[in-house]
Amino acid sequence: MYTCGIDIGGTKIAAGLVNAGGELSQRSERATNAEDPLAIIDTVVEMVSELNGDEVASAVGVAAAAFLDRTRERVYFAPNIAWADFPLQDVLEQRLGRPVTLENDANAAGWAEFQFGAAKHAHSMVMLTMGTGVGGAVVEDGRLLVGGFGSAGELGHIIIEPDGLLCGCGNRGCLEQYASGTALMREARSDLGRPELTSEEMTELLVGGDSAAIAVLNRVCDAMGRGITALVAVTDPEVVVIGGGVAKAGALVSDPITESFRRHYGAYERRPVPRVVVATMGNNAGVIGAADLARLQRPAGA
Ligand SMILES: [Zn+2]
Repeated sequence: MYTCGIDIGGTKIAAGLVNAGGELSQRSERATNAEDPLAIIDTVVEMVSELNGDEVASAVGVAAAAFLDRTRERVYFAPNIAWADFPLQDVLEQRLGRPVTLENDANAAGWAEFQFGAAKHAHSMVMLTMGTGVGGAVVEDGRLLVGGFGSAGELGHIIIEPDGLLCGCGNRGCLEQYASGTALMREARSDLGRPELTSEEMTELLVGGDSAAIAVLNRVCDAMGRGITALVAVTDPEVVVIGGGVAKAGALVSDPITESFRRHYGAYERRPVPRVVVATMGNNAGVIGAADLARLQRPAGA
């Protein structure tokens, strides 16, 4: 039995069919027309109609880079898409003629890691993504934390540096200003004196063991370790999953984050502590997580 997963980001929309084991097939991708909310709906409808074969999807799960209400029916707003108090679930259900399950994109990706990826055997998990910003998801006792107003898991905006760098959210010192892929590249360009350094070149330097590049990465990972210390104090998860583009560096990222967490977390040696591991689901985590959430929400027998 397949469900359809859709991941609507600020620049692209991905779609595919996903089975109960989290395996993705018929993946497709289109550009997002971020200025036109209804064009996005048209694109999603087209992409769903192109998924075919014998594996007809009974339900559709949609991950969106957006702030959703607690009941996952409406979009309050989206930082990079022109949705404002938009009834996305209802509009999509009308157009697609089948049940639609909405989730925030970072939460959907986190759900995929929890069900099928790096946190597969855990009951509780915190995931943090090191990408353009820092996104996150929290799973407690097998359930995604949604919060009282739908916005739980905005982990990039916990403050780790009082009076620190200005963040896009309007605050100063947010974790994502110190531990995102964007922060890594900002610091690397500055420290290495290479204003044109690309992320590919940075990866080459890191893999090649360049000591200056590794020092920058370690500093960014130290910030992430401090953020994790705060989150673990609240949620006490079994596993902390690090995702996003930076996590592709594997142990170069998870080792210094673990080291930072060890230094900052009280009584580290005297009680069980979560493992820090990198994500394994890759760029399709949002599609797979959204489809799986739709499968779990589908009424029995449907
Ligand atoms: Zn912020």
